[in-house]
Amino acid sequence: MGSAQDVYALLKEQLKGGKTQVLLPGDGEKYEESIKRWSKHCEKRAACVVKVASAADASTTVKFVKEHKIPFVVRGGGHSTSGSASIEDGLIIDLSLMRDVTVDVEKKTIRAEGGTLWVDVDEEAAKYGLATVGGTVNHTGVGGLTLGGGYGYLTGRYGLTVDNLLDVEVVLASGEQVVASETENPDLFWAIRGAGQNFGVVTAFTFQGHPQTNPVFAGPLIFLPDKLPQVVGFLNTFHSKNDGDQAMLLGFTCPPPANAPVILTQLFYNGTHEEGTSFFQPLLDIGPVANMTSMLPYEKLNACMNEGQGFGGRKMFGGGAYKLPLAPVFVQAIFDEFIWFCTSQPDMTESLLLFETVPYKEVVKVPNEKMAFSNRGEYYNLATMMKWADPALDERVREFSRALLKRASQAAGVQQDEDVRSAEGVGVYGNYVNTDVSANELYGKNAKKLEELKKKYDPENLFDRGTRLVPRPVVVVN
Ligand SMILES: Cc1cc2nc3c(=O)[nH]c(=O)nc-3n(C[C@H](O)[C@H](O)[C@H](O)COP(=O)(O)OP(=O)(O)OC[C@H]3O[C@@H](n4cnc5c(N)ncnc54)[C@H](O)[C@@H]3O)c2cc1C
Repeated sequence: MGSAQDVYALLKEQLKGGKTQVLLPGDGEKYEESIKRWSKHCEKRAACVVKVASAADASTTVKFVKEHKIPFVVRGGGHSTSGSASIEDGLIIDLSLMRDVTVDVEKKTIRAEGGTLWVDVDEEAAKYGLATVGGTVNHTGVGGLTLGGGYGYLTGRYGLTVDNLLDVEVVLASGEQVVASETENPDLFWAIRGAGQNFGVVTAFTFQGHPQTNPVFAGPLIFLPDKLPQVVGFLNTFHSKNDGDQAMLLGFTCPPPANAPVILTQLFYNGTHEEGTSFFQPLLDIGPVANMTSMLPYEKLNACMNEGQGFGGRKMFGGGAYKLPLAPVFVQAIFDEFIWFCTSQPDMTESLLLFETVPYKEVVKVPNEKMAFSNRGEYYNLATMMKWADPALDERVREFSRALLKRASQAAGVQQDEDVRSAEGVGVYGNYVNTDVSANELYGKNAKKLEELKKKYDPENLFDRGTRLVPRPVVVVN
């Protein structure tokens, strides 16, 4: 036993007899498909991809990589832009064959396997008149989104995705399969909700479902740039006007075919057409150049933005935060700078900057100490979704996005720096950042407890590709 081929042949042998697939670089299209990611920027040529079909096979694979000291990552929906679900020369535990969703009608709970996409959850739950807080683009993975926190249109009413998580089934670094909930392994459950990628392979999530039988009012309005002050004026009233059943995303982009700057708004009202149009009437009165709002069944809502958010191209998320009201002059400056950058580089006009005005009243009812997730505060998420083509621009894009978000967050009333940060949340959403952000930046006061729990549940730091919870070993050079 020596070569990598021999080692993976042994793994194949251990996993044979079920539906699990072990793919190697020589396996043609199946292998090539398995390493594709939402962002090309995150595609790496793994030495082996194990598409596990059961929790037992996930456990066998974890024990195997531990024994053979093979570096590995876990892939849920493949949408992160941090690169933490892909690996060069290591092994991928790919959960994409595990997409079953079951609903317990009596308890109103939804159990989703670890590789489920939000479309699976939305559609199955809707058959029973239920919904939970899921992602706004439904081909996103339940795994990464939930383990990092999770915001959706229903956040204003029901809080974060992790606030609706009742239990998880996890394969730990030891290979042991356990359940974590408020009553079983509660410390692990505390850590999973916000820092889950560091603690194991979650093979199933159980969510609280909520009755959602009515269709919703939603869709985009597009404005020309000269309307920006008026649109910001409306957004500033949204803060006090909403009762949790509304959301409004405000975005800047230059979409094809014209590649000309526009203001994009995505509206949501969990109610009738009359209620929706009445709530957003002042915005409609500003005069959008396109109005694509309509009534939708809830399970179609999260498909609304799918089209502009497909696979392909190099992409990177960045995260910041802002408070309302926003000064129109400040938003104009951000608009000008963002649009200037995206139009002065090649193939970047589809990039998007988003003021995600999703009501936080339910989010801040839960203290930051309640679980690992630490981004609860009286502010909203600001996000960049950069898209480009040339690898030579990677560093330039990263630096631009980071600097813009930091400045914008500060100017919009949210401090992200540890030494000046207020008592509220950290001011950055973990699912929008890269893995070079420190545990202190992402988890604030919760970082110390996470370090202790990491030592308890993953003492050898096998799940090491996300945000680093334990310090790197010090290398002494003589
Ligand atoms: C188009 C688009 C829309 C988005 N919209 C939203 C939104 O509305 N709300 C929101 O909150 N976020 C949103 N996001 C951000 C999203 O939360 C992250 O990109 C998230 O990482 C995606 O999860 P994934 O499973 O698809 O990604 P992956 O890249 O597969 O995984 C991300 C991380 O989680 C780990 N992981 C995934 N599944 C598991 C599992 N079952 N067990 C253990 N570890 C696992 C991976 O190892 C990796 O470290 C969006 C992202 C995109 C690309």
